[in-house]
Amino acid sequence: MDEPWIELLNSDWHDFRSQGPAEDRLESPQWVGGFLAQWKLSPRVVAAKSTRIGLGELRSLLKRLVLTIAEGQRPHPDDLETLNAYLAAGPFHCRLQYMPEADRVYYLRMEPVRENLRTTLAHIARSFAEVLVAGDPARIKLCENPDCRWVFYDRSRSRTRRWCEGASGCGNLLKVRRFRERQKKKRGKPPSRSTRRD
Ligand SMILES: [Zn+2]
Repeated sequence: MDEPWIELLNSDWHDFRSQGPAEDRLESPQWVGGFLAQWKLSPRVVAAKSTRIGLGELRSLLKRLVLTIAEGQRPHPDDLETLNAYLAAGPFHCRLQYMPEADRVYYLRMEPVRENLRTTLAHIARSFAEVLVAGDPARIKLCENPDCRWVFYDRSRSRTRRWCEGASGCGNLLKVRRFRERQKKKRGKPPSRSTRRD
């Protein structure tokens, strides 16, 4: 399951098949509405332009942190401080939920006492901070396809995933490309020595 921080980062979308079309999904109120609804974040702030600006600023911060962490570098103290400023929004209260149909049966959710843009951004920032604390920062990666650079969390057992996921993801695309290149080479190859007539 992806987390809101990953989805926010990848909202800066570009077509990985070429250097072609790109799209900042934050510019679409419809996308922003779907994103917030999916993560059960405050739907009342969707329409506001300030929401999209706020999400964009958080995205820039997360991008800087992810690039640094994915390279195995130490995050810049200023960036950590800015992240902490997002986390400081509140107040929140804890709510225990019983969800037998989900991955885990019990969920402890932090819910804002009053929903607003600050608490919405805090929720996304916390989803990232939790991965650093409870997950493995070394699993945060960028797709190695230079046309893609999609951010993902490598959940493979061997931690060796290099491409973004999915049937339409880069791993599959590059597999097809490599296959075609091999086929082309085969076709273009001169006949082998044993069959050549000198
Ligand atoms: Zn990719």
